[in-house]
Amino acid sequence: MLLITCPVTRTDELVAERRIRSVVNHPTHIALAVECPSCGSVHVYRTGRRWEAARAAAAGQAARPAAELTHA
Ligand SMILES: [Zn+2]
Repeated sequence: MLLITCPVTRTDELVAERRIRSVVNHPTHIALAVECPSCGSVHVYRTGRRWEAARAAAAGQAARPAAELTHA
C-alpha cells in the first residue's frame, strides 16, 4: 500500500499496488505513476533523498511519464 495526497482534491488516499501504473528508476529518484482513487486521473510521485537537490534537472523528465516507459 502507498499513501498519496491527491493534488486535485487535496485528500490523502491509501492506494493499492495494482493502481501503480509504472515505476521508473532515475539516478536521482524513483518516479511512480499512480492511478488516483480520489479523482481518477494518474499522478506522478517521486521518491528518493536526492530528489530535492535534483528537482530542477528532473522536472523536464517528470512531465513526460509516457516517454520514460520506453527506457524502463
Ligand atoms: Zn487525484
